[in-house]
Amino acid sequence: MTTIDLDHNATTPIDPEVLEAMRPFWLAGGNPESRHAVGRLARRGLEAARESIAQVLHAAPAEVVFTSGGTEANNLAIFGLAEVGNRLGLPSDPSLPPQVVSNPVEHSAVAEAVAQLGSSRGFVVDRAEVGADGRVDAASMAELLRPETRLAALMAANNETGAIQPLAEFARLANEVGVPVHTDAVQCVGKVPVDFHRLGVATLAASAHKFHGPGGVGVLLVRRDIKLPPRLFGGGQQGGRRPGTPAVALAVGMAKALERWRAEIDQRSERWARLRDLLEGTLVAGLGRNRVIRNGPIEPEYRLPQTLNVGFPGVDGDALLMQLDLGGVAASLGSACASGATEPSPTLLAMKVPKDRLRSSVRFSLGAGTTEADVVEAASRIVAVVCRISDATGPG
Ligand code: PLP
Repeated sequence: MTTIDLDHNATTPIDPEVLEAMRPFWLAGGNPESRHAVGRLARRGLEAARESIAQVLHAAPAEVVFTSGGTEANNLAIFGLAEVGNRLGLPSDPSLPPQVVSNPVEHSAVAEAVAQLGSSRGFVVDRAEVGADGRVDAASMAELLRPETRLAALMAANNETGAIQPLAEFARLANEVGVPVHTDAVQCVGKVPVDFHRLGVATLAASAHKFHGPGGVGVLLVRRDIKLPPRLFGGGQQGGRRPGTPAVALAVGMAKALERWRAEIDQRSERWARLRDLLEGTLVAGLGRNRVIRNGPIEPEYRLPQTLNVGFPGVDGDALLMQLDLGGVAASLGSACASGATEPSPTLLAMKVPKDRLRSSVRFSLGAGTTEADVVEAASRIVAVVCRISDATGPG
């Protein structure tokens, strides 16, 4: 039995065409900083990748900083913006500590960095609440901004629920008071259109392995008026913003994966949304509406097209995930596993998801290669597993 991969928000297999585009750069070698023909070839590849990524994301090439992935891009932005400070220089009481505004549904790559600002840099951390659908209210989040606010973080879309946040609206309110906004767009880029300049954010993080590009490369877009201090020190590459010899083949692969997505954007979005809804509909048909409860927004425009998070009330999530694995479906629990004990997901907790769904919610996420046959077969395997677990444990 082959496993059906419905865990693409964790990572995606590389697109063979992306691999082909990268191959010559790996085989040729060449340091883009070297002043000889081999180096120049590498530099051309790197700069073409930078331009292509900038074009797809509606940024300028000079605003693209290559990183090792989403985690590094998020950290670079958060610790950098924390030093830049409030750009309008609004009068603030010097006796008050600096403040950062965030929310409880950020990925740990942002949440932990923000927590560090609190625990080791003396920042006050204020987090906006989210509604039952996992979205913040932009105006309520903006009410937390003060003259002491150095930065605010709001992700573009959530990795567990697929909820798309009111980012442009929040960034507009933050810009009015001069507060730079960082967005973790790791789950948005390569899935829904992203326009860096229109969003109005200061910095934006993306990661190639989430959209059929290679692992180990990402970008931080840095708006040109933001002078972001570096986190690493070394050879001064990328204008000193992120030194270290750039991984040319990986950058080329990231650009190619984004180009492939853009070329198919309408087909992928339409097919993903159809298959996501087919998956939910088939689960509901097999188990009944009260045994399959969706976590996340109702409105299609606030949902990633390829993410479905559902709770199976009364079913133990750990057992479910294990049985799904044995039953040939790869999915993910909306929870963090620490020292053997699975903790409820902070995202679902913040959404005030009822207790019987907190530990029974599973994320299914589709990729570019997911077919209708995959979804139909996976749904039947999931229904069988949920029925078997429920029969074994009795009504939950
Ligand atoms: N941000 C979000 C929303 C994610 O889903 C992930 C990966 O799971 C990351 C950041 C981290 O990205 P990377 O794995 O490239 O470090």
